[in-house]
Amino acid sequence: MLNAIRARRILTMEGHNTSPRTDSGYYSFPDVIEDGVIVHNSSTIVDVLSFSDFSQKYTIEVTDLGDVTLTPALINCHNHLELAHLKGKATFGQGFESWIESALPFMATPVDSDSLAKAVDEMVLSGTAHIADVNGRAPLEVYEAVTARHLSCHIQLEVFGYSFPKRNGDTLCAKDLFPSTADNLPAEAKKRWMTLSGHALYSTSPDALVIAKQWCRSHERYFSVHLAEHPGEEELLTKGTGRFKEQLSRRVLPKDFTPPKMRAVPYAKHLGLLDASTLAVHCVHCTREDIAILKESGTTVCLCPRSNELIGVGTAPVRNFLEAGLQLTIGTDSLASNHDLNLWNEARFLRDNFDIPTGALLRMLTIAGAKALGIENELGTLSKGKRFQYAILPEDF
Ligand SMILES: [Zn+2]
Repeated sequence: MLNAIRARRILTMEGHNTSPRTDSGYYSFPDVIEDGVIVHNSSTIVDVLSFSDFSQKYTIEVTDLGDVTLTPALINCHNHLELAHLKGKATFGQGFESWIESALPFMATPVDSDSLAKAVDEMVLSGTAHIADVNGRAPLEVYEAVTARHLSCHIQLEVFGYSFPKRNGDTLCAKDLFPSTADNLPAEAKKRWMTLSGHALYSTSPDALVIAKQWCRSHERYFSVHLAEHPGEEELLTKGTGRFKEQLSRRVLPKDFTPPKMRAVPYAKHLGLLDASTLAVHCVHCTREDIAILKESGTTVCLCPRSNELIGVGTAPVRNFLEAGLQLTIGTDSLASNHDLNLWNEARFLRDNFDIPTGALLRMLTIAGAKALGIENELGTLSKGKRFQYAILPEDF
């Protein structure tokens, strides 16, 4: 059975499918339908057209949403829903070392269902349809909480540390990297939505990172990794010194750790982690040379600007990213490092601090995220055949 909704304006984002830039600057709107209608069945968009065309083509009733602008549903490209119970618990504004020290004791306790449900509700209310979620402790709980609210999510199983149980003698293999918590995921989740992510270049053995990336490549899944997030990471990788190194040595760093003496981005390239199926999260500390490497490899960068600001790790060179033509997406990161999971607030922060136009922000929130996660056949634009899910553009955009 067909239904239809009508809105003052529909931004389909179809014109943003091919290129991150337009000749007229950063992203105009080539794809606005004034007084538009979306025709849909229970799950799928059947048609998107103007009300006058709709009136000639269809005789079905239309629900008028009034003076609103519809956009494709949003895609949150970086989250840790298993940390939803950490809201308000960690120390902000004093750098990564203080933040992680304050958050760690709470990370040992499992997420509770109330915190998880509230976090997912917050995303539903802000028009989010899909979440790329880093997970290890509670993949099944998160998957069930998300799908119960008719959102979808990638479960990015996190590869962390320098020692793993080896099932094949002395040789580390991809199977060793999957946490046992993922065993109970439904078959559909394992087949479509499960992938691997490396925690970071400093926290995880290079062998494990390389094997994880190879597994993703051979299974046609994207790979993600926290990259170039904070100054302590840079000092540890380039010099092997600093407070962060001391902190890490107490928990995870092996005694014979030797720094690669490379910055994070060149080191990631050296390990073969960067390509068009990699999502590099944060990228706060990036030089022009780093940006050139990211661009050349086709890596997508996921910005988490409020998390960076709140923890106090610095500010990503967003304008330089845009000028270099990098593919950019947006994530909220977790409630351990953010006030909320509302992607519009992330976009407001980028708009107000980097003067990014709405078109560019919308691209990051929709089609760019869909492409990075390999779900552009389902989400990212308001087009025939895609999922019937949309967001309403807030009035201040
Ligand atoms: Zn993260």
